[in-house]
Amino acid sequence: MAIALKNMERRMQVFNLRHDIYCDVAGTCGCTDQTVTTVEESPMTGERRPRSRKRKVPTSLTLLALEKCEGLHEAVLRVPEIRRAVDSGTLRVLTMAAPTTTPAVETKPPTPETKPRRDKERNKER
Ligand SMILES: [Zn+2]
Repeated sequence: MAIALKNMERRMQVFNLRHDIYCDVAGTCGCTDQTVTTVEESPMTGERRPRSRKRKVPTSLTLLALEKCEGLHEAVLRVPEIRRAVDSGTLRVLTMAAPTTTPAVETKPPTPETKPRRDKERNKER
């Protein structure tokens, strides 16, 4: 189910959608793979050699002041920072009603995400 988040603050809010929290559940990975090269020095010989490894840079969700962002995967609600913001009222969760006549209804507090869900909810972005 797609949801919408509304920033209730008059300032921008940015949330990182961590790979292990968000991507796994959402079934899509928006992370950027970044190759980081470091130089390692052997303590024995003092020899240096480059070593590269992959790192996932999480995608982030940016909400401008009072901006509403629709079509988000509900997995965003698993992100601790987002939950905190929802709890503290700086962010509001709007569930998307059936498209057409009904405008997005501002609903009751978000239901806690407890039930396990399957991953057929992809490509819900607009
Ligand atoms: Zn990811």
